[in-house]
Amino acid sequence: MRWREGLACPACGGRSFCELRTRRLFQCNRCKKQVRLTAGTVFQDTKLPLTTWFAAIYHLTQSKNGISSIELGRRLGVKQGTAWLMKHKLMRAMAAREAAKPKLAGRVEIDDAYLGGERTGGKRGRGAAGKTPIVAAVETTPERKPRRLRLSVVKGFRKKEVEKVAKRDFAPGTNVVSDGLSCWSSVEKAGCEHFPMVTGAGKKAATWAPFRWVNTALGNIKTAIAGTYHHVSPKHAQAYLTSYAYRFDRRRQLDSIVERLAWAPVHTAPQPYRVVTADA
Ligand SMILES: [Zn+2]
Repeated sequence: MRWREGLACPACGGRSFCELRTRRLFQCNRCKKQVRLTAGTVFQDTKLPLTTWFAAIYHLTQSKNGISSIELGRRLGVKQGTAWLMKHKLMRAMAAREAAKPKLAGRVEIDDAYLGGERTGGKRGRGAAGKTPIVAAVETTPERKPRRLRLSVVKGFRKKEVEKVAKRDFAPGTNVVSDGLSCWSSVEKAGCEHFPMVTGAGKKAATWAPFRWVNTALGNIKTAIAGTYHHVSPKHAQAYLTSYAYRFDRRRQLDSIVERLAWAPVHTAPQPYRVVTADA
């Protein structure tokens, strides 16, 4: 996976190497530069066998709702803290893959939600204290079937925040369908067309056709996160949401998802502990 075209020396371009088996190194025959298989990848400096990583990749991809680090640690036979770090490093690789994909385009449905609780009180529960506000955007086919998902933690449902999400995630010219909440109009600042649909409140609104998929997706995500993680700190919410979207976007390619998620960390820069635990 790392050197599909064969290994070329990063220093001199040489193509013949000897393998120092005891130190897991390749040494260039021409200039003696030593190259380590995992250097410059997410696996760099790991003390675990790569087979343990591959098992982690398998377990992380097999459940739609993800897997807690406690359960992952149990399955891999490593401590929970180790499993947590592996999971977060792999989630960083997922995020890198998602970021490399084209922006959402065509027809996109957008909606607001909170992580950490149900929509209670008031019409839609907007402004709920202590919860993490997120924007969900689903690219759909013209027949309104979901294609790709983007989930973003925002500071609130404000125009500036929505504009930021739209500029990052939506291609200019995208047709954005939303409910009538005023903050959504700022998708126009990202060159999108905005189609506000006033749905009203209640059960009928949630199942109303233009929002059916977004609401289904949001409902599933909240169930997933509530069921798998009893508490997701706001600091790590984005990482979990992105990993959920990663799997959602590949739900039709599940037979190759293990190989895909093995490829991602090989082609993602190292994610040391201080990076993984830093504030988003
Ligand atoms: Zn060389």
